[in-house]
Amino acid sequence: MTTENWGAIYKEMGAKPVVNATGSVTLLGGSTPVAEVKAAMDAADSAYIPLIELEQVAGDRIAEMLGVPAAYITSGAGSALTLATAAFMAGTDDDKVQQLPDTTGMPNEILIQKRQRYWYDRCLELAGAKLVEFGDENGTTRDDLRNAISDRTAAVHHVVYEQNPTDPNVLTLEQVLDITHAAGKPVSVDAAGQIYPLENFGKYVKMGADFQCIAAKYMGAPHSTGFALGTKEIIDAMSRHSFVGYEARRIRGVGRPQKIDRQEIMGVVAAVQRWMTLDHEDRLSIAEGQSQAILRPLKDIPGVTAELNTNIRAHQPYGVFVSVDADVVGFTNEDLVQKLRDGEPSIWTRVGLDKPRLELHVFGLGEGEAELVGNAIAAAVKG
Ligand SMILES: *Cc1c(COP(=O)(O)O)cnc(C)c1O
Repeated sequence: MTTENWGAIYKEMGAKPVVNATGSVTLLGGSTPVAEVKAAMDAADSAYIPLIELEQVAGDRIAEMLGVPAAYITSGAGSALTLATAAFMAGTDDDKVQQLPDTTGMPNEILIQKRQRYWYDRCLELAGAKLVEFGDENGTTRDDLRNAISDRTAAVHHVVYEQNPTDPNVLTLEQVLDITHAAGKPVSVDAAGQIYPLENFGKYVKMGADFQCIAAKYMGAPHSTGFALGTKEIIDAMSRHSFVGYEARRIRGVGRPQKIDRQEIMGVVAAVQRWMTLDHEDRLSIAEGQSQAILRPLKDIPGVTAELNTNIRAHQPYGVFVSVDADVVGFTNEDLVQKLRDGEPSIWTRVGLDKPRLELHVFGLGEGEAELVGNAIAAAVKG
């Protein structure tokens, strides 16, 4: 923002760049690759390499860094979810690999607790699986899960958001693992953002899950990348459904459109390496400083409540909650979002789904932008 050529490449085409105070969201292009990642991606240009082999060694390297049996780099956590369902349904049988998304003759149900339905569960259906809910809006019992598991079950899916308060009305991952494994079925976990504290990075596979995904967009890799962690068996099966299997083995799996390039693969390896050796105290203190910079101009403005978000778990530490009292300032939180968006420069924020307040994150803010966001909110309120 401080530089004169901010967003120039977009403006030159007539498109309008924005200041991203929302955080890592795909809507705005959810990540800026860090220097180490860009360097690795550039270095990858120097030669070609068979991607089936590169996927293998890159996955091995990540698995070793995280202390899990196996890993596999994918086109986002979304593709990891899709490939995992393909693996759960068709395994390593090449005829079945080529039959998907027609699931005739295969177990094709992915079970999910009604209260855990979420935005990305669509990725679980792309390879032909059917989502089947168990439990209801009020909660889930162990028997709900026991009764839902059948010959048609391909896997039970579980979602973890450790940065949010625990939902006491869903089965815990431990309960899901117990019951599902006792019935001889695998467990899939969406832990896309669970990369901090470091002991949570890969934790769910270590707890016994057969598969979990991670979104590499959250750790300074290209926004288009992610990876799977899991048992050797599941990761091997996923690789057979992937785009490299399609090309190198001449077996046409559903993963072909979810392609990544060698630069992205090396970028993910570099991102994981950096994340495991990063000074996280430093990272957190920078994020807290940016959040305080947003807050500073918002103190003591009548009708404005602004407070620090103290969460440091998962991928977006700190941030700021802002809400306005419409009776005092004359407009609502939604109006404030629109005013900021209509400003110059345009600042994007959003109102939380469950709480009627703006949830700002510093993840996507460049040099000097935190101050700019705080001042813009203050100016909008003061008119
Ligand atoms: C971002 C995200 C995804 C999708 O990841 P992509 O890498 O964008 O495909 C899935 N699940 C959760 C919880 C996420 O936050």
